[in-house]
Amino acid sequence: MGEYTEYFKKWEEKIGAFIEVDEEAIENSGFKRRGQDFRAGERVGEKSEKKSVSGLPFAVKDNIAVKGRSISCGSKLLENVKSPYTATAVKKLEAQGAWVIGKTNLDEFGMGSSTDNSALKKTNNPWDASRVAGGSSGGSAAAVAAGLVPFALGTDTGGSVRQPAAFCGVVGLKPTYGAVSRFGLVAYASSLETAGVLADSVERCRAVFSIIRGKDENDQTSVAAPANAPSPEEKSGKPRIIGVLPAESVAKAIAAAGGGADGEQTLSIAAQAATLEEETRRGFETAKKNLAALGHTLIDVEIPSLKYGVPAYYAIAAAEASANLARFDGIRYGKRPDWAENPDDLIDKAREAGFGSEVKLRILLGAFVLRSGFQDRYYLRAQRIRAGIRRSFEALLGDADYANGADSGACCDAVLLPVFPTRAFDRGPSTLSPFAQKAADLYTCCANLAGLPALSFPASVENGLPVGVQLLGRAFAESTLLDIAEGYEKERPFPHPSGYEPFWD
Ligand code: GLN
Repeated sequence: MGEYTEYFKKWEEKIGAFIEVDEEAIENSGFKRRGQDFRAGERVGEKSEKKSVSGLPFAVKDNIAVKGRSISCGSKLLENVKSPYTATAVKKLEAQGAWVIGKTNLDEFGMGSSTDNSALKKTNNPWDASRVAGGSSGGSAAAVAAGLVPFALGTDTGGSVRQPAAFCGVVGLKPTYGAVSRFGLVAYASSLETAGVLADSVERCRAVFSIIRGKDENDQTSVAAPANAPSPEEKSGKPRIIGVLPAESVAKAIAAAGGGADGEQTLSIAAQAATLEEETRRGFETAKKNLAALGHTLIDVEIPSLKYGVPAYYAIAAAEASANLARFDGIRYGKRPDWAENPDDLIDKAREAGFGSEVKLRILLGAFVLRSGFQDRYYLRAQRIRAGIRRSFEALLGDADYANGADSGACCDAVLLPVFPTRAFDRGPSTLSPFAQKAADLYTCCANLAGLPALSFPASVENGLPVGVQLLGRAFAESTLLDIAEGYEKERPFPHPSGYEPFWD
């Protein structure tokens, strides 16, 4: 057994990141620990450039299509289904010489924050196997953190790339909406969703993003970046103005939002869930201090509408999920019941047996908010909140059309905010309730509502677990975020869990 195969097997047994693995390709790759052969026959003795992905293996979340491979979406309904085609983002990486090593675990259809909502298996955090890897792209994050792959693809609808990246101590990029083709992604909430990158360093993240971005004829919502937008390759290292969103003020605003007798209790739980735990607060303060030491100017900013972000996100995401998941009927895709009275009965039985409880909950919630007579009250209101949040961020960062050139007169280049209120949580009694997990999506879901790019990177390690922070930027200004994070990484190289060994430069 080759060195890399052995390493892969040992880790995978512990963390369970993959739903499907190409074992033959792993064995044939012949990777050796860094400093020796890079890839058998190809790069012996040669140092790779991180700019290139050629010869590198990567992992793909199992809701992104790769021809002939699993596309289970973490669901019993699609278990053992093979994809008939390949997603554009994957194709572009393959065209540059990278190869798919396997498909990674996720919360069913991307619905969750721990990967425990997968109907197929559990994924553990490489830093502490009793804790979750985060979600929903938990398998991709864990695989990168353990050094099984240098990068992975995930999807981010409300934080599913950034939050697991923070839990596992890797870099996670959610690009601008439309910057990367969604062709080949199994849709959960189409207007919020993007394909994203998880990587072991900022430079690698930048390289992968530069390859996968761009307009795609197969996805009419994909767009090329405006001519005036900064190029993703552009590195300036210059000092920036970073707006800081004080997390406490958002939690306080939620508690004070008011909402009748029942609402009050709900809001107080939500406010508590949005409050940073001691270690995360320390990590956030460390990030502020380090960014200031790097020469950036930090200013406090407020976004009052943010307190409504989670309800707006869940109303919109559930509404779109209820429509998108209607195609899974047991007739066209996936598992069918052995016997049914008639087609309606067949669909009922397939969905009853195939979907997990979180998926059913969201389909019901989506059908409820879209019910005639209720649309004004929930769905349309959520869309108004969404527009308000987008406007607030645009006022801080500049708008998406770059009509006045790169200089928009905006007051900051990026906004710094927490990723999630806690570090990776455990599976014991202290675990966040499903409701608290949703409320805690506050800091990530706002970038999806606004369609803006956001980058999560490790700020520090607190009591043995990584803490990530997040930079949110102007539309199509991913390179600004990558630039700031790269400066940070240079000063404070990102940490690895014990047992990590590098197999590539
Ligand atoms: N926690 C969010 C949710 O459950 C994240 C979803 C995502 O980004 N796919 O909806």
